[in-house]
Amino acid sequence: MGQAPAAPLGRDFSPSVLWHFGVEVPFASAGDPPREADVVVVGAGYAGVRAATGLAARGKQVVVLEADDLGTGASTRNGGMVIPELKAGPRALARRYGPLGRELVDSVFSAFNLVENLIAENNIDCDYHRFGGLLLAHHRSQVAHLQEEVIEWRDDLGEEAQFLSRSELSTEIGSDKYFGGLLVSRTGGLQPAKYHAALVDLALKAGAQIFDRKRVTSIAQDPRGGYQVKAGSTVIRADEVFLATNAYADAIAPELAKRVLPMGSFIIATEVLDPELAASCIPNGRMVYDTKNFLFYWRISPDGRMVFGGRTSLATTTVAEAQDVLYQKLLSVHPQLVSTNLEYAWGGNVAITFDRLPHCGRTPIPGGGSVAFATGCNGTGVALATWFGDQAASWLSGEIAPPPFSQLPFPKVPLVSLRNWYLPVVGQYFHWRDQIGR
Ligand SMILES: Cc1cc2nc3c(=O)[nH]c(=O)nc-3n(C[C@H](O)[C@H](O)[C@H](O)COP(=O)(O)OP(=O)(O)OC[C@H]3O[C@@H](n4cnc5c(N)ncnc54)[C@H](O)[C@@H]3O)c2cc1C
Repeated sequence: MGQAPAAPLGRDFSPSVLWHFGVEVPFASAGDPPREADVVVVGAGYAGVRAATGLAARGKQVVVLEADDLGTGASTRNGGMVIPELKAGPRALARRYGPLGRELVDSVFSAFNLVENLIAENNIDCDYHRFGGLLLAHHRSQVAHLQEEVIEWRDDLGEEAQFLSRSELSTEIGSDKYFGGLLVSRTGGLQPAKYHAALVDLALKAGAQIFDRKRVTSIAQDPRGGYQVKAGSTVIRADEVFLATNAYADAIAPELAKRVLPMGSFIIATEVLDPELAASCIPNGRMVYDTKNFLFYWRISPDGRMVFGGRTSLATTTVAEAQDVLYQKLLSVHPQLVSTNLEYAWGGNVAITFDRLPHCGRTPIPGGGSVAFATGCNGTGVALATWFGDQAASWLSGEIAPPPFSQLPFPKVPLVSLRNWYLPVVGQYFHWRDQIGR
């Protein structure tokens, strides 16, 4: 990520995830997993636990196997922005995929609505509020693009959206760095670890069994039918398997690993800000992000801190390196925070696909056969992963066809095994594009 002066750290600085503090994660199931199950779900993030909830509610015996402690994956490390968005707009998707393009867009709106309904129906205490989202043009050349996007949001999708010129931006962002903005109302913010803990609780209450520290090491067809899932000395025979490992897919699904690039994203959180200082940065509490390839995303946390995320290179980066660089970037956007210390810094992996779209369906496993999967949320999976989980429960129960994302061709990432060599160069290319506004 490059060299930067050391960020000022508060006395209580901790290189860990802000959201984890004060959240009680339900206990994982006790004892050993059963030897037989209707469905084994691999991974206990939003997608895994929602699939388990839906399957258990339909009377299936479901076992979730999570490699680490519950809540280790991206589902408790993210920015908490609930965004109905794909990396391409409705018109671009329609040009590329015809009517399927619109189905993809409708899916992300269903995902957004699902999250809001789940929170309301189950009284989930996760500090959710529909704050609205603000996408900022980092370069003059992006303004026309945002003006087109407003038309798509309003005319094609019937959504509340507004373009803000540079002179109008001061009502929404305390920074003079940006050239215009797209303000949409259908975007929310939540405390991701609280949301995840509540989803785990719902899954357990529905009757799913969730085991932590059970890393699945292989999946193979069982000669008696179905699959054998191994996690160390644990072996479970299951009729069906659902891979909900997103950016954390590994050798158990080699074909997925060729198509999904785990990419680190980093977040810093400051000390609690004086409310006036916080309001001088983001007066209306929007979820904010910019138009760069190496985008920044930022918000005020429920307890009043500036939470600022992103990355600035594709090279392997440590949290310590990232926190210094991100702090300098934060100051370049909000110089009013110059006397503010950092209290938290952390990272996590986002699942990048070559077409920047999510995918689901079935993927081959070593030795023959295939298992169900959903992956590739490309950094916007709070709503999508939740939705993929619910969809998987209906789809694996034979009630619906797999979601429309299953109809997309799923390209391999070129030369994936050499990625550590060429990604830094690709990163330089995207930097250059960011500088010239492409
Ligand atoms: C820093 C960061 C910021 C983000 N910000 C946002 C945001 O603001 N808004 C947004 O919409 N999205 C955001 N995202 C993306 C979002 O968090 C993810 O898309 C979403 O959480 C994916 O959920 P999931 O259930 O699919 O995967 P995860 O939550 O990652 O869960 C996958 C789980 O699978 C487990 N696993 C992997 N391999 C195995 C194995 N072999 N055996 C057993 N278990 C295994 C992992 O341990 C992990 O717990 C962000 C992500 C990161 C990292």
